[in-house]
Amino acid sequence: MHIEDTIAAISTPLGRSGIGIVRLSGKDAIRIADRIFISPKKKKLKQMPAHTILYGHIIMPLNKEVIDEVLVSLMKAPNTYTKEDIVEINCHGGTVPLRRVLELVLNSGARLAEPGEFTQRAFLNGRIDLAQAEAVLDVINALTDQGQKTAMTQLRGGLSKKLGTMREQLIELTAFVEAHIDFPEEDIESLSLKNMEKKALRIRQSLKKLIDSSRYGMILREGLKTAIIGRPNVGKSSLLNALLEHDRAIVTEMPGTTRDVIEEYLNINGLPVKIMDTAGIRNVENIAEKEGVKRSLNAMEDADLVLLILDGSSALQKTDIELIGKSNSTNTIFVINKIDLPQKINSKFKTQNSKFPVVSISAKQGTGIDELKSKIVDTVLHGHIESNADVVTNIRHVHALEKALASINAFLTAVTNKTSPEFLSVELRDALDAIGEIIGITTPDDILNKIFSNFCIGK
Ligand code: GDP
Repeated sequence: MHIEDTIAAISTPLGRSGIGIVRLSGKDAIRIADRIFISPKKKKLKQMPAHTILYGHIIMPLNKEVIDEVLVSLMKAPNTYTKEDIVEINCHGGTVPLRRVLELVLNSGARLAEPGEFTQRAFLNGRIDLAQAEAVLDVINALTDQGQKTAMTQLRGGLSKKLGTMREQLIELTAFVEAHIDFPEEDIESLSLKNMEKKALRIRQSLKKLIDSSRYGMILREGLKTAIIGRPNVGKSSLLNALLEHDRAIVTEMPGTTRDVIEEYLNINGLPVKIMDTAGIRNVENIAEKEGVKRSLNAMEDADLVLLILDGSSALQKTDIELIGKSNSTNTIFVINKIDLPQKINSKFKTQNSKFPVVSISAKQGTGIDELKSKIVDTVLHGHIESNADVVTNIRHVHALEKALASINAFLTAVTNKTSPEFLSVELRDALDAIGEIIGITTPDDILNKIFSNFCIGK
């Protein structure tokens, strides 16, 4: 990474659109833009005040050939996305004008930006911390309004502020502990030990609260992995269609990543719900019953939520009973379908399975779908969709918080055992480092690179 370079990239998706943007950042951004841009009144960007927009043309410096008609946004350091000089050339949004303008910019001294390099500079130049940088990606990739709201809170520093407070408490506690290191012959007074314990418990509670919030947070960010299972002809694909009809599906395509597939999500009361194996559900091939059960069991293991569909118009069969037996009441909803037909599943079914939520529907007629949706939210979140957007959404953050929690727990045990202050301080410093990893203070370079490489070019 050479922060000396001026970087450039096309920051809008390639295709045909009204406008497309070539973005430059770095100390030569303005000079490079001035070389290829002319305004009708021959104004130079260099002489313009920061944060102005100029109309003009992009030209080939050698033969003055006009490449495109543009608006150029000039943003001077330090009040910019990267804290460096930034020039954004608003071209016509076709592939050819954008590519030609980019080529010109590159030939005039800029270097093509790596994926996420603009955001990486915002981080390296201290405008945002690592958690905020990651939130940029989450805002772009958000699946539902609630997910985007949470990402925005994070981007604006919500989580960072909480972690900052926690770090301050830890630093204070570490200083207190380390003040005892210089007096090895004296035991730490019990009053001091009590005090340390009290402070550590407070930190532990904040850590636990954040870790708890991640259950909901991760669903918001990644989607709730849901398996619709049941023996053939119970109405799995009919239910999927009913749900899709009810709520416009969110279809996301993630080109260039390992998830280079089309994923289908439902938006259920703000919760992104990702239906597993939609293709398998829809294509009712005549797979052997045994194979079907095997697939269902695999899906049950992977899923955050299982909808086990039963056909209410016929008596329970061996496969149904087997799947019911393998179900886990914490994440499974029994869905009795075809209630528009005379019912054969007897009325005792509910009482016999009182541990499980049971919903009766007709996928064909669309009855009971609303109730099913609320049941999904109830089962997964025990009723409460957090109104507070301040939640942990990122698995990397969860791991770091768990590491910090383990260190605090070790510290508390050590305090109980009256371990020497050197050891106490090691645990606290480990906890501090773990939290620092989230915001980028103590994050190893390879992890940093990995995080930014997940961004698109131009961001
Ligand atoms: P899958 O094999 O589990 O995906 O089942 P399908 O969704 O393909 O449905 C099997 C058959 O049951 C089809 O003929 C559907 O029209 C019918 N079916 C599905 N849901 C209902 C329902 O709620 N009521 C009635 N009467 N028929 C249904």
